[in-house]
Amino acid sequence: MNKETRSLKEKIDKLYETSNLDYDEILFVVQNIFKTEYNDGENLFDYICSKANEVRFRNYGNKVFLRGLIEVTNICKNDCYYCGIRCSNPNVDRYRLTREDILECCAEGYEIGYRTFVMQGGEDPYYDDEWMFEVIKEIRDTYPDCAITLSLGEKSYETYKKYYEAGGDRFLLRHESITEEHYQKLHPETMKLSNRLRCLKDLKDLGFQVGAGFMVGSPYQTDENLARDLAFVKEFQPHMVGIGPFIPHEDTKFKDFPHGDLNLTVLMYAMTRLLLPNCLLPATTAVASIDPNGRAKSLLAGCNVIMPNLSPRRFRKSYSLYNGKLSTGKEAAEYNDELEADLAKIGLQVEYIRGDNIQWRRK
Ligand code: SF4
Repeated sequence: MNKETRSLKEKIDKLYETSNLDYDEILFVVQNIFKTEYNDGENLFDYICSKANEVRFRNYGNKVFLRGLIEVTNICKNDCYYCGIRCSNPNVDRYRLTREDILECCAEGYEIGYRTFVMQGGEDPYYDDEWMFEVIKEIRDTYPDCAITLSLGEKSYETYKKYYEAGGDRFLLRHESITEEHYQKLHPETMKLSNRLRCLKDLKDLGFQVGAGFMVGSPYQTDENLARDLAFVKEFQPHMVGIGPFIPHEDTKFKDFPHGDLNLTVLMYAMTRLLLPNCLLPATTAVASIDPNGRAKSLLAGCNVIMPNLSPRRFRKSYSLYNGKLSTGKEAAEYNDELEADLAKIGLQVEYIRGDNIQWRRK
């Protein structure tokens, strides 16, 4: 083993043993792990994935938690440059689920066995605080044994408080990029990283299990940006981390950019698992959409959550955040037998319980 390989392996071992690396060390791993001269007689990408898998196993066993995803609305007041359902795209069949639709999805999901419902949607002003409070409360009262995850964007402290009081347990809000300059290349002037971070802090203060996260390979992203994102998740300590490859959508100005690289995405999963041993880490639909082996590779690098789609079938194609998004087959909640069989092949087991972060308790 040459000295370059030895120095990189030492960093991975340090990350494994201490669950920590500083920004410069993270950047060193990101910049060198795929270079031939740093893999002399070793495959350090395989090595870091196996270490991450081991840490996931130590904290959560061989369990993969399933969450039923309900895409409640594709109407959004925002205009994120990468997003297929952003407000300025006229080529979207817009829909909004009714209270009855959402409850029907929950009933169907509960019957299949789900014990977490994820309500995800654009920032749709129609769903005001009162409306959302009532729906969350009704799900909470009907299914006291289930976790309720929300992914509804940037709101005020008061709104988040109402969601929590109604019975919400978790909130997903990717920070997207902790580098302000990069964040602004992905979002219009009206959207500010400072407000995103304020939201994440409010959610944590209120007692939610909070999910931050970012895309891999988004336009103009550098290795330095990625290293800063990893350093940020270490510092902020979210309970969940949502990471997926950027995938272009034809109706956005990023339509000609390539999608994020699978191995780089998997590296981000592995490093996140090693930095935050207790986190809940989904193997995203996006990673399954770019490669048929994407999901298995991600799970073997420390991921422990999958979110199959529970949305009404008639709307699934309309929730098109990026092109080629899977919403049928193993991405659909109705086909969990196939998913279970696939996971069994790699020694993992589907788990339907709530599956909270092991360090979290409701306030
Ligand atoms: S990423 Fe989310 S907030 Fe941004 S436009 Fe798309 S749905 Fe709206």
